Amino acid sequence: QAKLAGRDTIRFHDDAIQSVMEARNETKRDLRLALQRGEFRLVYQLQYDAGRRPLGAEALVRWQHPSRGLVSPAEFIPLAEESGLIVPLGDWVLEQACRQLVAWKQQPASPPLALAVNVSARQFKEPDFVERIERVLDATGADPHRLKLELTESSLIDDFEAGIDKMQRLKALGISFAMDDFGTGYSSLQYLRRLPLDQIKIDQSFVNDMLASSDGLVIVRTIIAMGLALQLEVVAEGVETEAQLKSLIAEGCHAFQGYYFCRPMPVDQLQALLAPAAVN
Ligand code: C2E
Ligand code: MG
Ligand code: MG
Ligand code: MG
Repeated sequence: QAKLAGRDTIRFHDDAIQSVMEARNETKRDLRLALQRGEFRLVYQLQYDAGRRPLGAEALVRWQHPSRGLVSPAEFIPLAEESGLIVPLGDWVLEQACRQLVAWKQQPASPPLALAVNVSARQFKEPDFVERIERVLDATGADPHRLKLELTESSLIDDFEAGIDKMQRLKALGISFAMDDFGTGYSSLQYLRRLPLDQIKIDQSFVNDMLASSDGLVIVRTIIAMGLALQLEVVAEGVETEAQLKSLIAEGCHAFQGYYFCRPMPVDQLQALLAPAAVN
């Protein structure tokens, strides 16, 4: 009896694993088609300064799946990384973002926004990453001084020196860099100080915990102190409440992004939000 139940349990697990694997492979196939079919969209989330003035925006990709509806990047970015599709998808995101920068520049009424684009580790590690960025800048005519690339620590783990070299070449063009999800990796100060960064983004998990316990506040305070010590701009992600915002301002954080201000939105909505009110 017990033996039989055991075997059934194993069979059940095998079946469950198999169906998860099949679903993943199907999503990978769909992703490839999605790029060809133009099913990806960019949405934009604004970032604000302590005086609640918009500073810039982060571009975030969305997949408008024909039958499943909107699929979250948390679900498809890891699969796109595994299959390598992240490289052409990353090129697409960058090109869209650069086109948007050019469109904003051509509208004198729109404020001078900077645009941050997420770069995955696999994309950054491509040997021709710098050339790919240069190609997109040339093709679109976007101003590199308005472009910020968000990296994660995983972009730099395998080949730190090659990573620094790529960053320096892109910085020479005027591009700036943010370290995304800061505090979730294992970087030492010694390692961070060698990176030509402009900004760190405090991971939203820390912002979420900061008022829940005294430890939470100490951690955020320490991260901000690290950023300030390295003379970097410090941005908080995932700001959801006024209390969090006030506390982050008091701790010396420079910029803020989160649902408290606004959600990521399509570009027409963003434009309506930024347009000077009551023009009629
Ligand atoms: P991320 O770069 O750290 O982006 C911040 C995420 O937090 C976004 O999720 C954003 O919608 C969400 N967020 C913003 N404010 C709040 C808040 O107040 N509360 C909460 N709970 N969440 C908030 P999203 O758009 O689902 O993206 C998830 C992740 O997927 C991103 O994290 C990034 O790592 C990745 N991703 C998104 N777009 C791209 C892309 O174009 N390329 C690459 N390589 N990765 C991307
Ligand atoms: Mg990001
Ligand atoms: Mg982040
Ligand atoms: Mg993240």
